Amino acid sequence: MTVIGTRLPADLPTRIWSGLTPVDASDGATFDVSDPATGEVIATVADATVDDALTALTRAVEAQKAWAGFSPQARSDVLTRIFGLIGERADDFAVTMTLEMGKPLAEAYGEVTYGNSYFRWFAGEAVRIPGRFATSPNGNGHILVTRGPVGPVLAITPWNFPLAMATRKIAPALAAGCPVIVKPAAETPLTMLLLGEVLAQAFTEAGAPDGLVSILPSTRDADISKTLMADERLRKVTFTGSSPVGRLLVRQSADRLLRTSMELGGNAPFVVAEDADLDLVLTAAMQAKMRNGGEACIAANRFLVAAPVAAEFTGRLTAAMDAVVTGHGLDEGTTLGPVITAKQRDRIAALVDDAVSRGATVTTGGVVPEGPGNFYPATVLTDVPADARILHEEIFGPVATVTTFPTLEEGVAAANDTEFGLAAYGFTASEETARYFAENLDAGMVGINRGAISDAAAPFGGVGQSGFGREGGAEGIGEYLETRYIALN
Ligand code: NAD
Repeated sequence: MTVIGTRLPADLPTRIWSGLTPVDASDGATFDVSDPATGEVIATVADATVDDALTALTRAVEAQKAWAGFSPQARSDVLTRIFGLIGERADDFAVTMTLEMGKPLAEAYGEVTYGNSYFRWFAGEAVRIPGRFATSPNGNGHILVTRGPVGPVLAITPWNFPLAMATRKIAPALAAGCPVIVKPAAETPLTMLLLGEVLAQAFTEAGAPDGLVSILPSTRDADISKTLMADERLRKVTFTGSSPVGRLLVRQSADRLLRTSMELGGNAPFVVAEDADLDLVLTAAMQAKMRNGGEACIAANRFLVAAPVAAEFTGRLTAAMDAVVTGHGLDEGTTLGPVITAKQRDRIAALVDDAVSRGATVTTGGVVPEGPGNFYPATVLTDVPADARILHEEIFGPVATVTTFPTLEEGVAAANDTEFGLAAYGFTASEETARYFAENLDAGMVGINRGAISDAAAPFGGVGQSGFGREGGAEGIGEYLETRYIALN
């Protein structure tokens, strides 16, 4: 196997970052992390306990006071330094992500750039936290509005983007003045542990307080989150993951009326109008479907195509999916890596089998290959009946479903026929249809003639069962700020 980074994952930090110090779990427990392409164990990491989490919270509370002594510009400078250090270590981050998550190396580099862009963006936002001063309408006084840090944050992240899903939370929280306890997914803790090394260096250089960020890899996720959320010192939970776990966390947050942000699942429609430029559509379709092997919350799940262009679209999509090269993410030429776990792979296979049993046609893929590794091939399904599970559940894999629509109104109605509302895509050559898509596709994010929409400068988030709250943009820092009104005489 080629090793492009300067260090093997076996040399990477594998202990909990309790602030600036790497420590073992309080009970000494560990768990294994495997390469999903081979099944081989690549590292054994500390398995944080509830006690470790409570220690992190105690340190976070202390750290917030010291961090408040850092001016907005000083905080911004620390974020800029982190941005520089991640850039210098891009090789290590990319290789680590490919090994623990499976994505092709080029995509892992893409995630380093994208994930890191949140540090650069929020370094800018740290010095632009807005306030307001106004005269009371009755002329009897003045209104002063200030905004301050919400307090210690618990950030729970998924495995699909091991770096970016956490930097979208850590960067705005630090910019706002909040300490963060990060609980990465147990499948992919190594990228975060590597980030811990970068943070420790930047914080030490700047004299930032110990305990500002703690990183707790753990298999005891439910116990840790329940305990921390019940502790009155914790002020905020920000979660990216599946809708069922998001709902559970919102219920758990209710007793303390804890502030929450929920970035949950999706079921993105990709609507192609009759007049769309099919060359552009195909490029965007492959981006929106196959980025991260389809393991993305904004992945196109349902291709809805105007009847007159459906046959040509399906033929060209099938050819493009046929050309996908499946393999280990570190191997040159690989464009599709493995699915994260055998369980997830079997879930995808079950969705495809269900659709086929109800009458769908497979134009390519659809057969689970022999092991090792959790591979599932690039697959296209046509004639998918409306009651097939795959049209209603998040696929989270390299499977495209194609259905047709007779009129644009019916196409958009079908696109909106989902409980999710994260991303939606619309393709057309007409300005009027573009506006129709923008106004009628029911999602937090709408891509018009674009298959890639993520941007640190834009508010990322959904509606309905896709959750609430926004990450990135000017909106992102607001998730970590409390508003205070001061009535002045
Ligand atoms: P998941 O919900 O299983 O796990 C996410 C995180 O929650 C992990 O860290 C996990 O350890 C933790 N967790 C699981 N059960 C928990 C519990 N009972 N209490 C506390 N924590 C718990 O999701 P996943 O499989 O890791 O990620 C895939 C999901 O994430 C998909 O649904 C995808 O759409 C979603 N996602 C959403 C966005 C977004 O921005 N909206 C981005 C990426 C992924």
